[in-house]
Amino acid sequence: MPPRYDAVLFDLDGTLWHFDDAPPPEEIAAFIAPRLERVITGWGQHSTIPYDALDLAIIAGFRASDQAADELHQHRHPNRVDDVARTLAAHGVTATREQAEQLRDTLSFEIEILRPRLFDGTLEAIEALRSTGARLATATNRSHTAQKITQELRYHNLAHHFDEVLTAGDVGWLKPHPAIVHVALKALDVPPERALMVGDEPRRDIAAANAAGITSVLITHPDRVSPLPATPDEHPNFTIASLAELLDLIGHR
Ligand SMILES: [Mg+2]
Repeated sequence: MPPRYDAVLFDLDGTLWHFDDAPPPEEIAAFIAPRLERVITGWGQHSTIPYDALDLAIIAGFRASDQAADELHQHRHPNRVDDVARTLAAHGVTATREQAEQLRDTLSFEIEILRPRLFDGTLEAIEALRSTGARLATATNRSHTAQKITQELRYHNLAHHFDEVLTAGDVGWLKPHPAIVHVALKALDVPPERALMVGDEPRRDIAAANAAGITSVLITHPDRVSPLPATPDEHPNFTIASLAELLDLIGHR
């Protein structure tokens, strides 16, 4: 039986891997603080709050602007450089655009610190999908660049399986906006009816896939509380409990 789909788009966090073992935010902030201090004192300036608190304030600033975008139902990816500059200004640091950009990159630390873990069977399922000839792309809502996400994929020994690495930060729109799906289909040269997308969040992943007219697949990993579809546009075409079940959907098992 020929495969029903030529391409699979993946959400990442909560779909391929989880961060259940991540240290608390305070521990991560304490790790980042010396880097922030080095950069800001290098500009001849000083934060009015401790640098670990500044790190947490910057992250809170990102969350606030994500939430504002959500409430406005506008899914433009917030400008992280503006977010950083705003938080710095609130704490006595005046940064140029280039400096705010430098600081945003400083916050982008090595993935190992977050102790990510693949869900059981992820590697095997991706390898098996690959052997069907399926083309794979990421479609993550992360702000990070493709380069950063590729490093994470490499950390999990997955990078060589992905033809395209797409992020909301690079594309400029957050799921549920379908832009990232459109960009992926174009990059992979696959029509919508030959693509499916797998994700763990109905209101982001499934809504984006549905809006773009591709097959939507909700993954509900066992022993995890998964959000349920709240509106008709969040209803998936299929629900699976493990990535291995994707092979049945693709029609290759
Ligand atoms: Mg997710």
